[in-house]
Amino acid sequence: MLSVESALKKYWGFDALRPLQGDMVQVALEGRDALAVMPTGGGKSLCFQLPPLLDGGLTLVVSPLIALMKDQVDALQLLGVPAVTLNSSISPSDQAAAIEAIQQGKTNLVYMSPERLFLSSTLELLHSASLKRIAIDEAHCISQWGHDFRPEYRQLTRLRELFPQASIQAFTATATPKVRKDIGRQLGMRQAKLCVGVFDRPNLTYQIVPKQDAVGQILQVVKRFPEEASIVYCISRADTERIAAALSANGIEAKAYHAGLAPNERKEISEAFSQERLHVIVATVAFGMGIDRANVRCVIHESMPKSIESYQQETGRAGRDGLPSECLMLYSAGDIVRWQRVMSGSDRTQIERELLEEVQRFASGTTCRHAFLSRYFGQDYAVPEDGCGACDLCLEGWNEVEGSTERAQAILRLALEMSSRHNDFGFGAGHFVAILKGADTKDIRRHYHEDLKAYGAFESFDRAHISSWLNQLVDQGFLAREGQPYASIRITEKGKSALLAGESIAMREALVAIKRGRQKVAFAYDEGLFDRLRQWRREVAAERKVAAFLIFSDKTLMEIASVRPLDISSFKGISGIGDKKLAEFGQTVIDLVTEFGARQGGHKGVVNAVVNKAPRNSKSQGTLDALFAKRMPLHEIAEKVGLRPTTVAGHLETWIKVHRPQDVTAWVSEENAKRIRQALSASEDGRLRPIYEALKEEIPYDEIRVVKAHAEALAEV
Ligand code: ADP
Ligand code: ZN
Repeated sequence: MLSVESALKKYWGFDALRPLQGDMVQVALEGRDALAVMPTGGGKSLCFQLPPLLDGGLTLVVSPLIALMKDQVDALQLLGVPAVTLNSSISPSDQAAAIEAIQQGKTNLVYMSPERLFLSSTLELLHSASLKRIAIDEAHCISQWGHDFRPEYRQLTRLRELFPQASIQAFTATATPKVRKDIGRQLGMRQAKLCVGVFDRPNLTYQIVPKQDAVGQILQVVKRFPEEASIVYCISRADTERIAAALSANGIEAKAYHAGLAPNERKEISEAFSQERLHVIVATVAFGMGIDRANVRCVIHESMPKSIESYQQETGRAGRDGLPSECLMLYSAGDIVRWQRVMSGSDRTQIERELLEEVQRFASGTTCRHAFLSRYFGQDYAVPEDGCGACDLCLEGWNEVEGSTERAQAILRLALEMSSRHNDFGFGAGHFVAILKGADTKDIRRHYHEDLKAYGAFESFDRAHISSWLNQLVDQGFLAREGQPYASIRITEKGKSALLAGESIAMREALVAIKRGRQKVAFAYDEGLFDRLRQWRREVAAERKVAAFLIFSDKTLMEIASVRPLDISSFKGISGIGDKKLAEFGQTVIDLVTEFGARQGGHKGVVNAVVNKAPRNSKSQGTLDALFAKRMPLHEIAEKVGLRPTTVAGHLETWIKVHRPQDVTAWVSEENAKRIRQALSASEDGRLRPIYEALKEEIPYDEIRVVKAHAEALAEV
């Protein structure tokens, strides 16, 4: 029997198991039931892939998605580990070959979907091959209390009875204590060992900002990662189509991905993405699990996610290779109503509403995001004194709104007055904002709301701020948002007594700027060589029709680009290179490194060219704001703070929307501004590229964006 260490080194090229992996491999070998709650990227798959290599017992892996199974089997084949999959997508001949491999004991690892598993022929096959272990991936899908309940997973409750001699090991990346218990019960686990990993994902930077101009905000972040992967999550299919089109029109090739696409279309997109021919996917939340790429550098929620569990899972797809990555949520209270509309009618509405409220609390809270998420999953997180360095609240801190109590009281007083004036007739948050802003709308006129004392009380603030305050009061329980399908705002008992007692109420200023994470890659490497290696990897992946990260992870490529191995022995020392990959790719990679070095004029030269690929530590938004206020030209600011002019223009757009300057002549000449405004008013949808073309490509995009932002800011009253 192979030892754990030698199998790990031989097949995977790793030196040691991680602590939790060690525990899980141990219980699997002992034939004990266990539930592992491991964060994404924690290395779940090794836990069930390794034991059969050691003791030769047949392991069944149940997985909800065919795409995931294919990826894992492809990966195992590249490592030289025999594994097969049985599902509806494989050809009859592959199927026959897989069955034969199982019958003859040529493979000890078989992947299956639940549907396939319960066919009587399959059950027979597993019995005759004396199934030893059952590994259940994404085990939270079995629980109603999970965020991703799958009815077909419910059948797995029969496994215990059908295979009493086999041990069951369940795996999930997200499970609250409640879901954990449910998993154990549903699967009929016996004296199961519970292994819980550390939930925090220190390499992810979390940011939540109010949704303003979603496309512009998404562009700002996605553009930071050229040639690297980003996933944008939306609520509806229509949103994915719209956002993908808008990103593409702005020079970022993006594809929509949702359940409404034809299967072959979906396959093509996810393959292009995993083979690194396509970098940006705009997907519905329902369809994320099939997307797999270890070097996703950025996950954006265009709308709020429907639960903290989904958020953890979806953002978890960023940085699975452990490298710094960014997660951005664009938050808008309207999304809550949209989700409620999607959910109404389901028999789980109440559960879903509670899950949604948690997201609301999370988004408008003032606790470090890393700490909130850890605590949500039942783990403590000690926030370092100078902050975690990887969330919006710690990066920027938060300020209490000036005159917070008075503003809160004005809003509460308005809510009280509205309820006494209109009794049961409720008004939505949008209407409240319109009143406070002093807008002139049909509804306001119809109900004579210009007469209210609060009308125009917040005239000088922009809507995003006002609606953020309103949300915070809801989140703190002073106001309630209730009713279907249109939610209305009401004052609660708590709100009334706070108003009466003149209690002080704290609200925080919403952050608008989207920061860069402060994290750095731990070692320096040659960026040029890394790019060359990635290009090579892309070619190999396309040739073999497998996901690029299965060939080598980014981390392994970075290490190669750092070590620059010139012979087999130094290549072998790099983490993530097992025997099979060494034999298969070793010489090619060494030749590539040698050739690259020669082109650069010898390796000494390359050492000096080593750059740190970490996102730059950007100057604080405070500095930028001050420079905008001083009307400093874009290129000067760019030089001063070390950002690209386009990036600065992105920040300037936000600043303009918040501060609404009288004019933008500091950044765009009168003449250009006039031409842009003409083109803007002639434009049907405000898309940048057609405007750029209408201006005969004579005026830079940055200037168009600035003028557009200004026009929109002024129109917003
Ligand atoms: P999960 O399925 O839990 O999201 P994966 O199985 O995809 O995680 O593993 C995440 C990453 O960690 C992969 O790049 C994998 O190669 C790497 N990895 C897993 N186990 C180890 C280990 N013991 N040593 C080094 N790297 C590991
Ligand atoms: Zn933090």
